[in-house]
Amino acid sequence: MATTARSLTEPARQTPITGDYDVVVLGGGPAGLAAAAAAGQHGRSVLLIERYGFLGGMGTAAGVTNFCGLHANVHGDIRQVVHGVADDLLARLDRLGGLNPPHLVFGKILAQAYDTAAYKCAADDLLLSHKVDILFHALATGVVMDSERRIKALLTETKSGRSAILGRVFVDASGDGDLAAFAGARFEKGDANGDTLYPTMMFRLNGVDAAKAGEAWRSIPLLMDEAEKRGVKFPRKGAIVRPQKHSIEWRVNVTQIKNAQGRAVDGSDAAELSQGEIEGRRQAMAFFDYLRREAPGFADAYVVDIPPQLGVRETRRIVGPYQLTADDVVNCASFDDTIGVNGWPIENHAAGDVIWRWPDIPGSRGFNHLPYRMLLPQTADGHVYDNLLVAGRCASMTHEGQSAARVSGGCFVMGQAAGTAAHLSLAGNGAVADIPLQMLQDTLAGDGVYLGRDVA
Ligand SMILES: Cc1cc2nc3c(=O)[nH]c(=O)nc-3n(C[C@H](O)[C@H](O)[C@H](O)COP(=O)(O)OP(=O)(O)OC[C@H]3O[C@@H](n4cnc5c(N)ncnc54)[C@H](O)[C@@H]3O)c2cc1C
Repeated sequence: MATTARSLTEPARQTPITGDYDVVVLGGGPAGLAAAAAAGQHGRSVLLIERYGFLGGMGTAAGVTNFCGLHANVHGDIRQVVHGVADDLLARLDRLGGLNPPHLVFGKILAQAYDTAAYKCAADDLLLSHKVDILFHALATGVVMDSERRIKALLTETKSGRSAILGRVFVDASGDGDLAAFAGARFEKGDANGDTLYPTMMFRLNGVDAAKAGEAWRSIPLLMDEAEKRGVKFPRKGAIVRPQKHSIEWRVNVTQIKNAQGRAVDGSDAAELSQGEIEGRRQAMAFFDYLRREAPGFADAYVVDIPPQLGVRETRRIVGPYQLTADDVVNCASFDDTIGVNGWPIENHAAGDVIWRWPDIPGSRGFNHLPYRMLLPQTADGHVYDNLLVAGRCASMTHEGQSAARVSGGCFVMGQAAGTAAHLSLAGNGAVADIPLQMLQDTLAGDGVYLGRDVA
């Protein structure tokens, strides 16, 4: 929001302590879900705090409805490389009838669509099965520190008032690095010019005639190219228009939201977000109007859902002892402290376009390791925290590295590692940065995680 010199002093107050947990996880997206499930699975008392009334993060709140990054193209053989907690969630989604078979993207990789309602229910069940407590409708607003490197409590605002929740280890899976920023951790935003990946307002259509639409994900971008020659303007190239589980329902990923200066809307700025929500809905309706008029199969369709929030791809990225880079992704880097793998390429949502960069396919193994060091936030003077981990799209990556590993698959991997590391730290193995790596990797592998060390 625009800064102002005006301020006032609030009265000091006593804040009630409403919880005391081994592990406190902020955020119910793929990273938070996996972190909470992993810590719960190892018998820790866990609270997951989420500002909405449902889980899934951008996957539900922003209408993403599609998993990327679960697979890699390993020397020409496309296989699932993210397992562990993700397998449990996928099985629950499938049992609810809400999971598509994987579909091919650019002939190179697989993605897998799902129904939003099924994801919400499957995620509830997943966490309850591991005895995780969930506090919905709670916005985290600050921390109380024990020392410069140790967090004592997370502060939340709810309809019942302000409260403090004590924890022994905290996992920041807020996507925006809120918890780490409250604790004073180092972070970056955007590229060298401060430009983040552009946000998108997703929307879904119902009443599509799938037979007439055919392979619309191929034909619509070509139709758009022709329309542009006639002077029609679109927010960006690279439209993704694809069917969900039931072929009458399609998702549309095409909008691109700028601020008043023409730069990507900052998803951690309340005023810009507010303007972005309105502009996102305007663009959604304008593109729907185009589809209805010009794309075969869409004449009788209607907009069945504009999701609760604008889809935010990138805000704060925490700076840990290692930042995953674009070179790591494209060159399929290996790390001794691997906690799992990312097989999704660079997907840079730049002004007016989506720019893809892939590892050599089929020459390479098609995935990079994700190092544990990505999950360790640092204080302003470069010390790692004793009891704070970060997982998901706000973990330690460069702007371009984040454009790949931010997708759901990488977030599940980071989340499961963070929850497991929290458990091991509490099991008498020291601060989160000091737990024995071999123990972390053996525990993850025992829980079904693929560490990616068997393929060169
Ligand atoms: C438009 C768009 C399309 C995308 N398409 C795909 C795709 O097709 N496939 C794919 O795999 N990925 C896709 N992604 C990326 C992917 O959805 C996200 O990067 C991923 O969800 C990030 O997971 P996360 O757990 O790190 O954070 P998030 O999913 O952002 O979850 C963070 C959670 O924390 C909560 N939270 C945040 N701050 C607070 C607070 N202070 N207090 C309480 N709760 C808080 C939020 O409500 C949210 O539920 C897309 C993203 C966007 C925006």
